[in-house]
Amino acid sequence: MRVEVDFDLCQGHAECQVEAPDWFTVGKGADAKARAKRGEIPEDQIDAVRDAVKYCPTQALRLVDTDRAQE
Ligand code: SF4
Repeated sequence: MRVEVDFDLCQGHAECQVEAPDWFTVGKGADAKARAKRGEIPEDQIDAVRDAVKYCPTQALRLVDTDRAQE
C-alpha cells in the first residue's frame, strides 16, 4: 500500500501531518502542499496513514493497493 497526494485538491491544512507525522510533511505559506513519503507504507504506519486519508478535509489523499497497481 502506498499513498498519493492530489496537489490540485490539497490545500495545505496539514491534518495529514497531524495524523501521520512520520509519513507526511506540509510546508508553510499560502501555497503549501503535503508531501508524502514514496513507496510502500510499513505496517506500523498504515493505521496513521489511513487516518490521514480519512481526515483530509479536501479528500486529496488516496491509498493505492500496490499489488493491484502492478497487475
Ligand atoms: S490534510 Fe489533505 S489538504 Fe491538508 S495538507 Fe494533508 S493532503 Fe493536503
